[in-house]
Amino acid sequence: MLSLPKYSWLLVLFLWGGTFASLATPIVHIRLRVEPGTHSFTCHYQFTLPASDTTSVVRLNLNHALNLQRVHSTGALQQRVSTVTYVGDTVHQVQVRYGPHRRRRQIELVYSGTMAKGEFTDQVAVFSGHGNWLPFRPYAEYELVAYELVVQAPAAYQVRSTTAAVRQRPGEWVFHGTTSHIEPTAFVAQHFYQATSATAPPIALVKAGAPLARPDTVLLHRAEAIVAFYNRTIGRQAPVGRFTILLPGTNSGAYGLLDDATVITYSTFDVTSQEDLLILAHEISHKWWAYGSFHDENGWLSEAFATYSSLLYLQASGDEAGYRAELARLAASAAGTPPLWGFDRYQHPFAMYRRVIYNKGTGILAALHQHVGTEQFMTILAQTAAQQTSTTTGFLATVAQVAGPGAHAWLLAELKR
Ligand SMILES: [Zn+2]
Repeated sequence: MLSLPKYSWLLVLFLWGGTFASLATPIVHIRLRVEPGTHSFTCHYQFTLPASDTTSVVRLNLNHALNLQRVHSTGALQQRVSTVTYVGDTVHQVQVRYGPHRRRRQIELVYSGTMAKGEFTDQVAVFSGHGNWLPFRPYAEYELVAYELVVQAPAAYQVRSTTAAVRQRPGEWVFHGTTSHIEPTAFVAQHFYQATSATAPPIALVKAGAPLARPDTVLLHRAEAIVAFYNRTIGRQAPVGRFTILLPGTNSGAYGLLDDATVITYSTFDVTSQEDLLILAHEISHKWWAYGSFHDENGWLSEAFATYSSLLYLQASGDEAGYRAELARLAASAAGTPPLWGFDRYQHPFAMYRRVIYNKGTGILAALHQHVGTEQFMTILAQTAAQQTSTTTGFLATVAQVAGPGAHAWLLAELKR
């Protein structure tokens, strides 16, 4: 897997450094030491704001179950660690105050802990988007960061991530990328089973726990078709050049990662069933649909768009009846729910969030599709994905630009219904 041409990692490092200089994203350095035998880990974490960010108070939340051992901030006027309540959870909160004219704003944390149940099996330890192992700024879990992830594990272990390691030596693996704050990913296991498709773009399958079997081959072929479909449609202005599917077998859900990858944890996942096929298509599409905050109504820009993308794939694969039946099922679930516009998830049980943000939102997209026609609709989606639109008003502006003020007014009325 690590057959990078000689010196190419130097080029990667150079490009990575160049990205840092040109983007206004924070830079994160993570050094993770894993003891798979005891499911414990230690993390040296460094968060650096870009020079263009003059924020005077920086807050980082960290899972309260982790043992925060050290906090050090460079150039700070004041540094405080407290325990606060954050969307119903207790978290450590590091708050650092900076004066003006500080060029370098950096916070270092050292913390350790034991992995949560559901994040490991006897064969693999999973550090990824749902493991709650990384700090993040409040209400900004999906803030883009440029990261370097260094993973140290006992010599008998291998480490995999969403991309190939840029550097590796016995017991240490280094990965670089740009992804959301909580999504740098490391899988640690003694053995991985892998396959890569010969298609363009190539799809890599990385599995832990059991050798690749027939359902995995079917999954790989389906993923090739789904990624190719999205590259022609929703992703045509921002196509992917590769994609990775990680299969840890931890049975704790499925989630997409911005870094051209998805994690499917179900050990019995079979895309010959429509339910699993739609999950796969939904999660892959999150590569393009990840910018609407899950704390408010803008979450539909992630979840309804991913759900409708999976239905578009189903339809394109020839299952018009399945497409219609699934839309009817979602419409029934959305009946009688409050408007998506202004929906406050924290005033409702989680089930209502799903009914409004996922199901009602999907129905609204299907109606918009019908209202403006496939050609304009695909232009709207492709442009929304490429612009990384994160607000409903931003999406409405794209609709107005592509399909005119009438379509904008029509959509606004639908959202308020
Ligand atoms: Zn989703």
